[in-house]
Amino acid sequence: MSFKALGLSEPLLKAIETQKYPQPFPIQELAIPAILAGKDLQGLAQTGSGKTASYVLPILEKFQRKRADRNLHLKVLIIVPTRELALQVSEVISTFSADLPIVVKNLAVFGGVPLNQQMVKLKNTEVLVATPGRLLDLISTQSVHLGKIETLVLDEADKLLDLGFQEEMAQLFKLMPKKRQNILFSATLDTKLDYIKDTLLCDPVKIEI
Ligand code: AMP
Repeated sequence: MSFKALGLSEPLLKAIETQKYPQPFPIQELAIPAILAGKDLQGLAQTGSGKTASYVLPILEKFQRKRADRNLHLKVLIIVPTRELALQVSEVISTFSADLPIVVKNLAVFGGVPLNQQMVKLKNTEVLVATPGRLLDLISTQSVHLGKIETLVLDEADKLLDLGFQEEMAQLFKLMPKKRQNILFSATLDTKLDYIKDTLLCDPVKIEI
């Protein structure tokens, strides 16, 4: 199976070539077509499986299919448990989007740095990678609005719950449009995830790697 056969177009294929990914990992073979088709997705995957590219690539592909003169507002929200993962995911997005014809601005926000520093960078951000607490802070200062989110990704959902972010996430979900694509990745599928799966996902494609 090739990346091309998964439905990615030339600009993304070039970016993948630059990264020297010879062929898709199993999770990418399954996730990329499902995400491109607009389906909700539930993925059981460990770090190292290639899960980041499995959602970043189709998300960037969808931007390439849109008009270049589109409105620049926040469309994709990726919620992660830690600063490290936020930076890592943002780096993957930046790497793959570096030479794309349609530029997509992404930003990572997390606690531990002054709010102002992140507020000034938010302008024109279309893809935001965020930890839950800092995201709520930015919302309360009106720096971020979730009213036009089209795609929500929860990465390491089990860890988000382990770190006690359940309440924050419930608040965040209420601020997003009901009609949106939801993608959930987790390293375990413990029953503690049932509530979040049931409230978030609509007829999801299920992937276990
Ligand atoms: P992740 O599971 O997203 O943390 O990715 C683990 C590592 O695999 C990262 O260093 C990626 O750059 C690399 N990777 C992801 N997909 C591929 C692929 N199809 N071929 C080769 N390396 C990949």
